[in-house]
Formats: sequence, C-alpha cells, structure tokens
Amino acid sequence: MTELARTVRDLMPVVRADLEALVAIPSISADPERAGDLRASADTVAALLTRAGCPEVEVVGAGGGPAVLGRFPAPPGMPTICLYAHHDVQPTGDEAQWTTLPFRPAERSGRLYGRGSSDDKGGFAVHLAALRAFGGRPPVGVTVFVEGEEEIGSPTLSRILADHHDRLLADVYVIADSGNWAVGEPAFTTTLRGLADCIVEVRTLDHAVHSGAYGGVAPDALTALCRLLATLHDEQGNVAIAGLHHGPGPDLEYPPDRLREESGVLDGVDYLGSGSVVERLWNRPAVAVIALDATPVARASNTLIPSARAKISLRVAPGDDARLALQRLRAHLIEHAPWNARVTVTDGDTGEPATIPFEGPVAAAARTAFTAAWGREPVLVGQGGSIPLVAEFADAFPQAAILVTAVGDPDSRPHGIDESLHLGDFEAACVAETLFLQGLADQAAG
Ligand SMILES: [Zn+2]
Repeated sequence: MTELARTVRDLMPVVRADLEALVAIPSISADPERAGDLRASADTVAALLTRAGCPEVEVVGAGGGPAVLGRFPAPPGMPTICLYAHHDVQPTGDEAQWTTLPFRPAERSGRLYGRGSSDDKGGFAVHLAALRAFGGRPPVGVTVFVEGEEEIGSPTLSRILADHHDRLLADVYVIADSGNWAVGEPAFTTTLRGLADCIVEVRTLDHAVHSGAYGGVAPDALTALCRLLATLHDEQGNVAIAGLHHGPGPDLEYPPDRLREESGVLDGVDYLGSGSVVERLWNRPAVAVIALDATPVARASNTLIPSARAKISLRVAPGDDARLALQRLRAHLIEHAPWNARVTVTDGDTGEPATIPFEGPVAAAARTAFTAAWGREPVLVGQGGSIPLVAEFADAFPQAAILVTAVGDPDSRPHGIDESLHLGDFEAACVAETLFLQGLADQAAG
C-alpha cells in the first residue's frame, strides 16, 4: 500500500463523520417545504470544502436548487480536474418501511444506511476524502461542483454551466453519481440511457353512463386506454414504438439469477424482450406505464368511464435523441388509438442519453489508480438509468475527458427504501480517486 493510500485510510473516520453530517440533512429537492434544508445542505457542503482547505468556495444558483462551487487553482503546468456530485436527495417514500429513519445515518453489516448515503452525498464525500488526503493542496487544479437539483432533472444546470463557464472549465470531469458492477468491483460507466415521459389521455364519452344501458356498444375510456397501452410492446415484450434507436451492447454477462435477485422480479414471471440482458438494460429503449388516473376501485359503480389517463416513461437508448424519441412515442399513441377514441398526449420531461468513451491517457491513469485501490481491474458498464447532466457537461465542455464513477453497488437502492453505502467500497473509492489525481499530476510532470 502506498503512503498516499495509507493517508486516505487513516482519514476515513473523519470523512465518514462528514458524510453522516450531510446525510442527516433532509435536502429533498422535490419538496418545496425542504428549501431551507436544501440551503443548509449546500452551506454544509461549502463549509466542509473550506475545512478541507479549499481557498475559493461559493454557493451559486440560477433560481433553482443551490449548488456549491469550490476551486483549487492549478499549480503551473498541471491540468484541472472538475469533481462533480450532487447534495440533493430523493424523497424518502413511506418512512415506516425504513429499518432505521432515513435521515439518521446508521451502520449495519458493513453498510451505512440513510437517504443520500450513496446517491449522492457519498459521491461528494469521496471528493472530500481526496482533497483531505492532499492536506488541501492537491497536485493538480481541482474544481468541485456539487449540484443541488439533480434529483428533479437539473432544471437550471445549463444556466449555471453557462453563467460560470470559465470557472468550471476543466481538462477532466469526474462525475461520481453512477453504480459499480458489484460489491468489491469498480466500474466506469460508458453509456447512459436518456429519458422522455408524457401523459396520455383517452376520452370516449361525453359523460359517465350506465354500463348496462350502453355497455356493448359505447366504449369505456379505461378499456380503450388499456388496449392503447398494450400496443407499446410486442408479444415478446420488446418496445414496439417505430423509429427508436437500438444501440450495440457491451459484452458482459449478467446472470439471469442475479438479475432476478437484484430486481425482485417474482419467481416464474417472465423477463421482457429478446437479446442479451445488458443489451436490453443499457442499449435498447424501454417503456413503462408509471401511473394511471381512473376511478379508484373503492369508488367503483357500474358506469362506463368517460376518460382515463396514464403517465408513460420511456428510457431512450444511447445514440438516440430524447426529443425525437418523445415525438415517436407521441405519434405511436395517436396512431394506435383504439376504436377512434380521442387521444391527447401532453409532453413531459426529456433528458438526453450519453456515450462516454473510455480511452486515452486520462482513462489509462484512471485504470491504473482504480486497479491499485480496489485490487482488481475496473469493469466498463452501461447504465439503464439516466444522468442527463453527463450530456450537458459533454455539450458545454466538448474538449474535456469525462469519467463517470460510482460509490453505490447493486444493493445500494438509490431512490428506494433503506438506501445504503458499502463502507468497504466507499474506502476503496476514496483511495482510487486520490491515486487518480496523483496519477494525473505524475503524467503531466512527464
Ligand atoms: Zn444521483
């Protein structure tokens, strides 16, 4: 173990205490009543950076969630690395289902539980560990950017990137907000799916009518909606929307039993689609109905329902365009209206997919550092989820190299009940990033 790695390991209790202090703040960006907590979380991030020796720290924003920008100017001849994470978190869901309260960090079986422990306050804590390891004097220039609205789709990120473009300009962006391949197995994410959603409403009747008097002739809107939703997949469960992109998949084996275990698909229930598992998860589109408005069962009466609506979520394959994909979804819904029912589609949000090449000297330095820290070679993976800001960074800083790293593993349950961070992996991630910064400095020094 190198001296630098030993320094990081010695710092872990301090870094962990910093992380726990952050996890204790309910910085839920989707909840307007938590605006004060979101601000407190940004202020805590700023204070932690200052304590880690950062000479220039500022809370910035463009009308959305407060972000934190910290800078260590580059020593002469050294590159600048921008370290990204976000300090806002998802809502908790039903708190009663949590084993321990979401904002009371708690350790069980080598994992730290709490909302934001892995997504993504853990990501920020890794950056903090690297900065502390260098005693506040990193060997390269470092810019830390900690966003405050990632979990609501980064509505003002492009404005922040434009407003602070010069201060955010870097040679390398490390985006610590993805997932590792398994406990003990680091991964770099090389593809991300994008996202598009919409609300479809079906109307068949002017008003609800007696199902005995008119049933058999007059169509009800909920049945019509169900028939429409059923056209989104073919018989095998492949997405049946014409014109969507299907990318090539990476060559990784994801055993079906592991998938069932990790996804919670019930025994005997089929998987959707054809092709390799990772191809279906990472490099093809996916579509799901995520909400429905119709008469609740408790208020049912024997009437034909005049209107019903559903929210549809489309994951957009890498290489596709999220806005075009949304247009294709819209066209599909209009064209497949059953029984000439009136179908209206209201567009929702879009986030672009990304392809992040892992090549060149920066990737080589990352591979060396991560292999040394984790004791095994990193795996190149895709992600079925979306981190639209990766595409935004790639657009805003086209010359830079981007690395998408992670602290979470498949059992971290980001966004879910009992979110957690594997503490052994956390330490490995902290060592890896520290060695990586040193490796880039060594590379620049020739
Ligand atoms: Zn995240």
